[in-house]
Amino acid sequence: MHAMILKKLKTPLEWIELPDRQPGPNEIRVKVLACGVCRTDLHVVDGELPNPQIPIIPGHEIVGRIDAVGTGVKGLAIGERVGIPWLGHTDGTCPYCLMQRENLCDHPLFTGFTRDGGYATAAIADARFAFPLGEAGSDISIAPLLCAGLIGWRSLVIAGDARKIGLYGFGAAAHIIAQVAHWQGRSVYAFTRAGDERTQAFAKSLGAVWAGGSDDAPPELLDAAIIFAPVGALVPPALKAVRKGGRVVCAGIHMSDIPGFPYSLLWEERELLSVANLTRKDGLDFLSLAPKIDINVKTTRYPLREANQALADLRAGRFEGAAVLTP
Ligand SMILES: [Zn+2]
Ligand SMILES: [Zn+2]
Repeated sequence: MHAMILKKLKTPLEWIELPDRQPGPNEIRVKVLACGVCRTDLHVVDGELPNPQIPIIPGHEIVGRIDAVGTGVKGLAIGERVGIPWLGHTDGTCPYCLMQRENLCDHPLFTGFTRDGGYATAAIADARFAFPLGEAGSDISIAPLLCAGLIGWRSLVIAGDARKIGLYGFGAAAHIIAQVAHWQGRSVYAFTRAGDERTQAFAKSLGAVWAGGSDDAPPELLDAAIIFAPVGALVPPALKAVRKGGRVVCAGIHMSDIPGFPYSLLWEERELLSVANLTRKDGLDFLSLAPKIDINVKTTRYPLREANQALADLRAGRFEGAAVLTP
């Protein structure tokens, strides 16, 4: 197999040939068909997340086809197309797993962070954390659903039954979730970098009723807001944009520091929450809903060997929607 591997934090990924690996008990091996590029991959490369496994093959939006199966695997067979997400393993026994909050497991493994991921021609996964995908939809358009879509979905659920919902940072996750929220009959307000008229037009084309800069006040108070951009400075304006009792959800795994702000922004039972990881139920719920919505996933394809370029372009905001690598 071949992979783009991170040997040292804050250095470019390197193209490498590795011996083919065999799946262990309860594991599957897939031939990777496509792997999305997530902002979290940038945080991994930049060393912004605690306790990484190094060296590591990044990538946690994997669409693959099973080509080997370990002992004990149930319900999946060779030839089946599956999705492999960020949550790669849990212990199943800690207090969080036992209270159906496996996203907070005390002993998790994360694909592309603490177990090798999908910037590769092949990947090994814990079969219990892989999602059957069926054959509808292209590999490239499904890949971004596996994190941008899933984390976006979890954030949307946690935002509650808001009718008017703001999305701060209109990248891979927001462009998917805007369509879901629109389909659900909500009004979407998109906040982009100030002056980014191209992305604001993109948001409107996906159903947003309003689009503006992140410093702009929306034309009316919102019921909830989700912050997808890793920018803590967006928290005060988001709190200012929601009504009494409104909710602000921070969807990212990493965020710059949140600046001080007057208590009056939080007062009147506004809530500020974060979303961590996903549960398998999130994945099953969202992946069964997604085909009904016919989500238009905007992708930019890069050959696997150009993963560094894809990451650089993501960092610079040089494409709309999501980048996807193909071997
Ligand atoms: Zn656990
Ligand atoms: Zn991700």
